Amino acid sequence: MSLDNRPLYTGGCQCGAVRFRIEGALHHASVCHCRMCQKAFGNFYAPLATVNPGTLSWTRGEPKRYRSSRHVLRGFCGDCGTPLTFEAPDGVALAIGAFDHPEEVAPTFQWGLEGKLPYADTIPALPGGRTEDDMEVAPYLADLGPLQHPDHDTESWPPEDRS
Ligand SMILES: [Zn+2]
Ligand SMILES: [Zn+2]
Repeated sequence: MSLDNRPLYTGGCQCGAVRFRIEGALHHASVCHCRMCQKAFGNFYAPLATVNPGTLSWTRGEPKRYRSSRHVLRGFCGDCGTPLTFEAPDGVALAIGAFDHPEEVAPTFQWGLEGKLPYADTIPALPGGRTEDDMEVAPYLADLGPLQHPDHDTESWPPEDRS
C-alpha cells in the first residue's frame, strides 16, 4: 500500500534493467492460452494483469517492444528477454510473474481457450519436489549465486560485486 492507502505494485525483469510501478488497483488479472501468448512467453499460457490508465510508470529503463499483430505491441527486457507487457488499444497488461509479489495478483479469468494445451489442467497433479531436492545430481545448485534482481526496488543496479 502507498501512503494514501492506494494499492502499490512494483516489479521488473529478471536482470533488473527494467522496473515498473503501479499506483492504484489493477483492472483485471487473467491467463491467456492463445497460441500467440504461448509463443511470446515461451510458456503454456500468459499470466497478465491489466492496469488502469495513468497508474503505470517505468522506474528503471523501459521495455523494448515489437509488434505481434496489427494492434498489439509486446514489451520485453532488451537485456535479459523477460516478457513484460501486452499493449493493446484498450489498455496495457503486465506479466504477472514479473511482479515483485505475484502471489498478490491472482487470475480470475482464462482467455484464448481455443489454444489451451491438453495438459494445462493436469500439471498441478504431477509429482514434484523442491529445487534443493535436486542437489545430488546438480551440485551447482548449492552455489547458484543468482544474479536475479531482488523482489523490491533498489537504489542502484547491478550491485558492484557480480563475480
Ligand atoms: Zn532484464
Ligand atoms: Zn493471448
